[in-house]
Amino acid sequence: MTVAANADPRTREAAVMLQVYGQLPFVPMEARGCHLVTSGGQRILDFWGGHAVAALGYGHPNLVRSIREQSERMIFQSNAVALDVRATAAEKLVSIAPTNLSKAFFVNSGAEANENALKIAFMSTRRKKILALTHGFHGRTAAAGAVTWNSTKSWYAFPATPFEVDFIPRNDVAAAESMINDSVAAVIFEPVQGVAGAFDLSAEFVTALRNSTLKAGALLIADEVQCGMGRSGHYFAIEAYGIEPDLLTAAKGLGGGIACGALLCGEDLSKTVGPGDLGSTFGGGPIAAAAIIAVIETIESEDLLANVRQREAEIRGNCVTGPVRSVQGKGLLLGLVCERPATDVRDALLVHDILTGTSVDPSVLRLLPPLVLQSQHVTRLVSALNNLIFE
Ligand code: PLP
Repeated sequence: MTVAANADPRTREAAVMLQVYGQLPFVPMEARGCHLVTSGGQRILDFWGGHAVAALGYGHPNLVRSIREQSERMIFQSNAVALDVRATAAEKLVSIAPTNLSKAFFVNSGAEANENALKIAFMSTRRKKILALTHGFHGRTAAAGAVTWNSTKSWYAFPATPFEVDFIPRNDVAAAESMINDSVAAVIFEPVQGVAGAFDLSAEFVTALRNSTLKAGALLIADEVQCGMGRSGHYFAIEAYGIEPDLLTAAKGLGGGIACGALLCGEDLSKTVGPGDLGSTFGGGPIAAAAIIAVIETIESEDLLANVRQREAEIRGNCVTGPVRSVQGKGLLLGLVCERPATDVRDALLVHDILTGTSVDPSVLRLLPPLVLQSQHVTRLVSALNNLIFE
């Protein structure tokens, strides 16, 4: 199919790209702070944040400067050499992580971080089974997809999962205690289940996961790809539960928009892998490392954890209005539980120039805005929720 060079990008993409994404009805041309500007001139307040990626919003001077200066110095070197910028990124990342997690391994995405965390779990325990939670999402690669709830029944295209997997019903303490035994290498879970609709697990359940894995000699992997990097109002959401995982994965907001991921583990676990066991050409590249440094330094210098908690309080206090019946989640990973389909609410909010997201729960509208969100932005959301017109 021939498409004119000046045709709408949606038409041009459709002509040359696999059509695997349901796309929104606008084309962003530029972005600043918490706003997108579209090809049609619409200025949209972004409560979606590029699916939790734009932690610092758009065009943050610290991130732009850090990436620009690093790209002028040196765009790339692989892990065949040590780099000052990579060492600094790792030091900063372990400094904000739960205190037992003192070693980092850099990758390029959330799924890749989870693949490697699972690999470490198998190598270190020599066991063959992984437990995950119902409604959890961990990525679309072979191993990450295998531990994603319902994937094998829907989009998982591999002939078989690469290892044995079972799913603990979320928040079912008794099931967790009986299923976690000495055949289990690891339990992987999201402290706040993102794609499921910003569903925060009960403290009792998360504590049971930690106690039962310790008792069974199994590892606990916290997937903080979506809920980590300050989004929960803590650096990592697991802190809210007062426990330490054996492995933690991060991505999305980690580089504020530059593709990167990381896994963190403790000293003992780090000794179970050696040269050649793990690897990733682009993992920990200089531009990604510079972005990670800028994100962490800005969360600190602008006190963004406090900002996240203040905005969460405002949203909880004011957004149960219009079609919204309740709020779930933590920090700025929130699910507005609606009395009508979340897709209708999302579409109606877009008419008010506000972008929000949906989730696999049809009644939950998901908010994942930049951590730099301001009070006036919440006020706009509240006013729009009160004035929605449904077709
Ligand atoms: N884990 C969680 C909790 C996620 O939300 C996602 C993506 O949405 C992933 C893993 C996969 O990350 P990526 O798309 O970077 O591979």
